[in-house]
Formats: sequence, structure tokens, C-alpha cells
Amino acid sequence: MNIFTEINSAVSLEEAASLYGIEFNHRNKMCNCLFHNDKHPSMKLNKDYYYCFSCGAHGDVINMVQQLYNLSAIDAAKKIISDFNLNVQTELSKNPSIITQKQKEIEYRKELERAFATSRRDALFILHEYHGLLLKWKRELVPEDMNLDNANPLFLEALNNFDRIDAMIDELTYGTMQEQIDFIKSFNKEVEKIEKRINEFKSSGC
Ligand SMILES: [Zn+2]
Repeated sequence: MNIFTEINSAVSLEEAASLYGIEFNHRNKMCNCLFHNDKHPSMKLNKDYYYCFSCGAHGDVINMVQQLYNLSAIDAAKKIISDFNLNVQTELSKNPSIITQKQKEIEYRKELERAFATSRRDALFILHEYHGLLLKWKRELVPEDMNLDNANPLFLEALNNFDRIDAMIDELTYGTMQEQIDFIKSFNKEVEKIEKRINEFKSSGC
């Protein structure tokens, strides 16, 4: 176990937030995001990582302290060790390669975060657009005689798909970080199909 994993398993996000004076709701563990100008709490403090539902920022307790005090990863680690009085061997001065490794990990994770945030934003954009169309069709194309046999196909499409798209948007908006990542992986193809469907509708000139 290196010093960073030791710190992460010793200090939870909640404990760090309490010690460093971040106000959060003790029931749902939400606080104002540290990474964007947040008026309503959108950052969730999970046990070993934080995640902002609005800007997608996430990281561990070391990243949080880095952000709070504008520190390097190693200085944030040292601060936590001292503030929480942790019995952790500070091997870092002897072994600087650990630092570069951690920095590489951070860079790699940032890269992933950016890619994830982009896919999530694009998927939400498409889902919302389709959702809006379905809602419109569902409201405006109700067959006058209430007979589904003669209904406008767009109305039927709306009936068939509305709830599912609604649930997909919910999951991608409010799911845990892991659920959202899984969602992007599993529904990638489906979102592509929806995008095609929207374009097809637009070019049909209806
Ligand atoms: Zn944020």
C-alpha cells in the first residue's frame, strides 16, 4: 500500500469535509461544489471519492485538499497525515518516483474525466432533444377518436418510447458516478440510434 492509498483508506471524504469546514447536508452528503461556482449543492461526498453532478468534477480526499488549499498532491498528503495525526510512513522523500506515479495517475484520471464529461453531455443533449419531440407528439398528435389503429405513427412512437427516454435521462443525471459510466458504455449504441432518428425526423420536414 502506498501513502496515497493509505490516506484514502484512513480518511473518508466526510471526515475531511468536517475537519476542513466544508458545510454539507449530513443526510444526503451533498455540498456546494469546490470546482465551479455552485449555488445549490451538487457535489456528493461518497466514502472515498467526491463527485459533482453539475460539472463532473471528482476525485479522492487528497484531490479535495489539493483544491481547498491549492497544494500539490504530495503536500496535500502531508497535510492530511499531520491534520489527522495518521501513523503513515512518509516514504516519499526517499522515493520520489511515487510522486511522479501519482501525478501520472492524476493526469490519466483527468483525461478520463474529460472524455466522460463530454460523452455524458452529448448523450444528455440527444436524449433531451428526443424527449422534447416525444412530449410534443404525445400531446399534439392524440388521435381524435382515441383509436390507436389510425393514430399518427409519431404519436405511437411517443407512447412507446417516452417513459424509457425519461428514465434514461434520470439515470444519466442523478445516477452515481459508476452508474453513469456504465450507462454511457451500455447505451452508447442506442443513443447513436436516437440521434439518427432525430436527424431522420428533421430531414423528413414534418
Ligand atoms: Zn461542480
